[in-house]
Amino acid sequence: MELVKKPYECCGCRTCEIVCPKSAIVMKEDAHGFLYPQIDQTKCVDCGLCLKKCAFQSGYPQRKEFEPVFGYAARHKNMNTMMNSRSGGAFTALTDEILKRNGVIYGAGYDEDKKFFKVIHKAAVTAEQRDEFRGSKYVQSDLKDVFLHLKRNLEEGKWVLFSGTGCQVGALHKFLGKEYDHLITVDIVCHGVPSPKFWADFLKMREREEGGRVTGADFRDKKKFGWKAHRETVWIDGKDISSRLYTKVFYLDTAARPSCFECVYANRNRVGDITIADFWGHEQAVPGFAEDNKGVSLVMVNTSKGKALWEKVRDDMDVIECTGYPYRHTNMKRPTKRPDNYDEFWSDYLSSGFDFVMKKYCDYEVITHGQRTRKKWAEKIKKPTRKVKRKIKKLLKKIK
Ligand SMILES: Cc1cc2nc3c(=O)[nH]c(=O)nc-3n(C[C@H](O)[C@H](O)[C@H](O)COP(=O)(O)OP(=O)(O)OC[C@H]3O[C@@H](n4cnc5c(N)ncnc54)[C@H](O)[C@@H]3O)c2cc1C
Repeated sequence: MELVKKPYECCGCRTCEIVCPKSAIVMKEDAHGFLYPQIDQTKCVDCGLCLKKCAFQSGYPQRKEFEPVFGYAARHKNMNTMMNSRSGGAFTALTDEILKRNGVIYGAGYDEDKKFFKVIHKAAVTAEQRDEFRGSKYVQSDLKDVFLHLKRNLEEGKWVLFSGTGCQVGALHKFLGKEYDHLITVDIVCHGVPSPKFWADFLKMREREEGGRVTGADFRDKKKFGWKAHRETVWIDGKDISSRLYTKVFYLDTAARPSCFECVYANRNRVGDITIADFWGHEQAVPGFAEDNKGVSLVMVNTSKGKALWEKVRDDMDVIECTGYPYRHTNMKRPTKRPDNYDEFWSDYLSSGFDFVMKKYCDYEVITHGQRTRKKWAEKIKKPTRKVKRKIKKLLKKIK
């Protein structure tokens, strides 16, 4: 049995691993930090179930019942909820209802020890646990064995809401293989998922620079910088450092998973009961609505089941219907394009290391703790940055 011939054929969802009746498949990290299945040929009986259940194929189970799709610009009425969510807080509104039904929510949070803020999927049964899933984590989330737990929840008759990227939601439907009345799936419009190795190395770099331990991470802090800005923040022993370094590589697409460039889910045939996204371009679609750079959700209702839940929760949000508009997002038209320097980036990374890549692709010199402050002052005097120049100008003006 050969499962993955080319890296772009696998999205790393682990379905093949968990369905294998002989436990012959184990997911292993490749040099780039992405998970791929490895088959123990001595255990494999060629039953083909892994291939049958593979969801990363264009014939995935589409869920679109309505044409045109019901689309909404939405913002949670509770400003605190809104500001703690990535877009307009649609995820919180939907999951609050599931919590009221004593259900289980699955989403992307962090691993238990939070040492390098590894992003994993896990379950939440309280609002506090659910709140960890808020905010976009721009790195591939490891699904671990959540599908097995989720199936058990459904068989117990519980309400379940699973949220994730299109490939993760597609994988769940393929794994389950049948409809469950109590299951709601929410897929997010996804630009692509960067490598967990790159994320961990970025945090390690911050630790080396500051001489401390990572105590917090935020991929996009809208409270500080606004919804449209994109800067990552890392806390080292409680001190926050914000930059556009990780972000830059995210947008260069050089650290994305190869399958993202061939994503079968990057189109208008959505795979979840409900699709959520940042509502870019809402100023044109719904002029005058929430034009304060605090965030707006795009909500697309794809199935009757999704519609029933949406009708139940939409009063928690300010909502304007804009059916027909939603498909303008790039990743609802096509997958992100593979950058020309993708192979060069990884070849540099693997042969010369993370610091070299920072210098070459982000024009950033990584300096270890101690060296940093001395060099920083010397550099500031010799070659003042625009910020320092501005400060000097201001000071001179004041003196004058
Ligand atoms: C890697 C990535 C790329 C994205 N690209 C785009 C894009 O190109 N265009 C666009 O409009 N929107 C994109 N989004 C979606 C958007 O940023 C918001 O996640 C979405 O609008 C939900 O906002 P909210 O306020 O309703 O949810 P929030 O309350 O902020 O909840 C965030 C939701 O995203 C899920 N999530 C967070 N990180 C991950 C992850 N790594 N893997 C899987 N699920 C995750 C959580 O489980 C939760 O359901 C992307 C999100 C991610 C994670």
